[in-house]
Amino acid sequence: MDEGIVKVVIEAIRQRTGGIPLVCRVCGGTRWLSNGIANIPIDSPPGALVIGGRHLPLVDMTCQICGLTQLHNIVVLLGREKFEELVKQQEIQRQAVNEAENILKQKEVKGE
Ligand SMILES: [Zn+2]
Repeated sequence: MDEGIVKVVIEAIRQRTGGIPLVCRVCGGTRWLSNGIANIPIDSPPGALVIGGRHLPLVDMTCQICGLTQLHNIVVLLGREKFEELVKQQEIQRQAVNEAENILKQKEVKGE
């Protein structure tokens, strides 16, 4: 789960709609979760494994009450510049988590 992206999407929608909150259209819930950015390939043959090429950068937003899942194009929502900034931040966070995990593994090996 990606709590950071949930906050980013909710705030971006609020800003772009003049303050309208993200409310589930099925149950009225306002608590969301997300798995983050999924790059969906487009213009590719069915069943083909595509590396690179054109894609849609979509973020899933899933209602925590009823499970309704909707997709938002994160580049449209944030704009290219903020999107690229977000990707950089996420990469920095991933690296920090990897480094912390490596430190913990090394301590386990040493028996600390
Ligand atoms: Zn719902």
